[in-house]
Amino acid sequence: MMTVEEALQILKEKGYKYTGKREEIIRICAEEKRYLTAKEIMERIKELYPGLSFDTVYRNISTFVELGILEQTELDGEGRFRLACSTDGHHHHHLICTECGRTSSLSACPMSLLSALPEDFQVTGHKFEVYGTCKECMSS
Ligand SMILES: [Zn+2]
Ligand SMILES: [Zn+2]
Ligand SMILES: [Zn+2]
Repeated sequence: MMTVEEALQILKEKGYKYTGKREEIIRICAEEKRYLTAKEIMERIKELYPGLSFDTVYRNISTFVELGILEQTELDGEGRFRLACSTDGHHHHHLICTECGRTSSLSACPMSLLSALPEDFQVTGHKFEVYGTCKECMSS
């Protein structure tokens, strides 16, 4: 995963002002190392900034997703967020535990199995996630 410092550097490069709240959201995601709902992030950040509105937190989360600082997925119809993998890592996909949101990486990519992509479509990216139950959740 990217570090808090790397994430703050991206914010700075894109012209976003540094605020303690922004750093705290990134810090929470860096500590948890798993997919969190906006509500879970909100609950954690409220310990430090009790007056903060959900809107402010959600707006910052959306900005972080746009900037590639956070990765977003959806489990049970609810958006979940985690700190993005480090920018210099090689291409990979994630196995995601639907119980606790922990992820592990999968180096295989299904794109290499696709032989018949239409010629009149230019591929610019793809998404692939595998859902299941992690070792810790299976044994509890
Ligand atoms: Zn990853
Ligand atoms: Zn789990
Ligand atoms: Zn891939």
